[in-house]
Amino acid sequence: MTEKILEIENLTVSFDGFKALNQLNFSMDEGELRVVIGPNGAGKTTFLDIITGKVQPTEGRVMFKGRNLRALSEHQIARLGIGRKFQTPRVYLNLTPRENLELSCNPNKNVFATLFKKLSAPQRHQVSALLETIGLPNKANIPAGLLSHGEKQRLEIGMLVAQSPDLLLVDEPVAGLTDEETYNIGELLLALAESHSILVIEHDMEFVRQIARKVTVLHEGSVLCEGNIEEVQNDPRTIEVYLGTAPEEDDA
Ligand code: ADP
Ligand code: MG
Repeated sequence: MTEKILEIENLTVSFDGFKALNQLNFSMDEGELRVVIGPNGAGKTTFLDIITGKVQPTEGRVMFKGRNLRALSEHQIARLGIGRKFQTPRVYLNLTPRENLELSCNPNKNVFATLFKKLSAPQRHQVSALLETIGLPNKANIPAGLLSHGEKQRLEIGMLVAQSPDLLLVDEPVAGLTDEETYNIGELLLALAESHSILVIEHDMEFVRQIARKVTVLHEGSVLCEGNIEEVQNDPRTIEVYLGTAPEEDDA
């Protein structure tokens, strides 16, 4: 039997009476790569904010690996094994990609202790393997500030993976990237999906087609439809609310 990594029941989030999420039901299997799409304002970012504990639900509950996340802080939820990649890269520009990854795999998160203390052999091995996975072995020792936007995004995804989360949440990873960089991020997520559970929020349909297995369409805070990319693209409700309208720039 497949275990559920995430189960969300009747989730409602009200902001001064406005329901950003409205009786949302959602579940995801352990090991799954899921893409969540939806027009601007559908509630996608709020959905991630709830899972990570940044925002508390008005009603309903979020279960992570069978555990109710209610009343846990953002920090406690992160420690349980939920890692989040924000839209803009948050890497240390003066440090190298290798140093950035070394910092992320150090549970103490202390810059000075990490930089001046030798990592254990397994940690060094993990960092080298991650540099390969994210396609940056040749840029491992230059300042991260010299990387392209796409390379920084890949580095940050590597930094997230270095923390060994059980569930990776990735919010619009290809916004503002070139086609080639977008493709690289897609291949990276597909490679990571072989050994991780990943939830990706995305707007770029070309990218969604590249990586999608199962897609969930959000609309006005609820699940509108769910299925593989063909089913979703042929669903009349989805065409009406999402594919039929020109996607707007979303930078929330
Ligand atoms: P998406 O990421 O799908 O574009 P969001 O989750 O950012 O959508 O927002 C969903 C709706 O909730 C939007 O109408 C937005 O204006 C509203 N919203 C989000 N956060 C807040 C907040 N803190 N206070 C009031 N309204 C909010
Ligand atoms: Mg958003």
